[in-house]
Amino acid sequence: MGLTLTDLEAPEGYERLIEARDPQVGLHALICLHSTVLGPAAGGCRMWAYGTEAEAIDDVTRLAKGMTYKNAMADLGLGGGKSVIIGDAKRNKTPELMRAFGRAVQALYGRYYTAEDVGISPRDMAHAAEETRYAVGLSKASGDPSPWTAEGVFRCLKLGAQDTFGSDDLNGLRVLVQGLGHVGLSLAEKLHVAGASLIVTDIAQTALQEARDRLDAEICAPEAVFDQQMDIFAPCALGGVLTPEHVARLSARLVCGAANNQLATPEVAQDLMAREITYLPDYVVNAGGIISVASEIHGTGDAWRRARLDGIADRVAQMLSTAREQGRSTTVIADEMVESMLARSRSA
Ligand code: NAD
Repeated sequence: MGLTLTDLEAPEGYERLIEARDPQVGLHALICLHSTVLGPAAGGCRMWAYGTEAEAIDDVTRLAKGMTYKNAMADLGLGGGKSVIIGDAKRNKTPELMRAFGRAVQALYGRYYTAEDVGISPRDMAHAAEETRYAVGLSKASGDPSPWTAEGVFRCLKLGAQDTFGSDDLNGLRVLVQGLGHVGLSLAEKLHVAGASLIVTDIAQTALQEARDRLDAEICAPEAVFDQQMDIFAPCALGGVLTPEHVARLSARLVCGAANNQLATPEVAQDLMAREITYLPDYVVNAGGIISVASEIHGTGDAWRRARLDGIADRVAQMLSTAREQGRSTTVIADEMVESMLARSRSA
């Protein structure tokens, strides 16, 4: 028996939840289409050793909904979806398994576009792409999305500075960049050129030396981030960094960075507000990468990508002024902006 696709009961508010199995190659995957109101669903494929299928369903549904919001806010003409392959990416991943996953994606005839995520490399996606036209983010096509992500974060950070400090001039402001990876280092370079005074941290040494020598950055230990004096905090490493304890110690007045899921819980948005720290929601400011991938789906070029980054900046400006006027959190305002886009599109 080869590949089988089974529709599972989708949670309320979701369009479809599909289980894909191919026992011959050990494939057990879930594909979730949260919403295709604005266009075909798009979102990465994650491979993870979930303990149970229920855990995998929780993850894929949460991530698919997140993609609807991210893609809508970036005005990509795409809906939200996500897929997960259940298994250990180091031990269970084979080209045959990725090809079977590609066949599952192809069987949805373009209702869902997949791309790499945690546990899946461009090379793995290239195996899937042998079986489907709907695998994107391939290294030879749109290339590394990180420079686009960094550019989007930088533009939003300047808008945040205008709102928080009354000027978008970063000259002399102390900015802490947590994580000098693909996005963090590129963002740090832009901040240096704009005259910001940098503090950087990473658990790996290599990029730190480069930042110190080339960008005149101060280095701080990863565990000392929340003891530093800073104006702006740019989380560009892992998610969950903004816990109630960290927010209580944070000296920054603005938070804007690339890391996904920065708030440890949604309630932390209130803690930030109570301390008068402006928070720019991660899914809004880090959409440069998905913009780059979307340009591959639509077959559009750099001008289209730049126009989408301009659009994000406009929406961030609108979000900040509404949040200030109404005294509500930027996360709530951003979500409401997306929900009204979806409602408008449904009624049209
Ligand atoms: P990356 O893996 O290249 O870089 C992450 C860096 O963070 C690494 O240098 C790592 O050593 C460092 N790091 C890990 N734990 C740390 C810690 N506790 N303290 C300090 N540094 C730590 O990843 P990336 O592509 O630069 O992405 C950074 C973040 O932005 C991730 O959360 C990612 O999900 C998110 N993001 C990236 C893109 C993109 O285009 N690459 C798009 C959207 C969101």
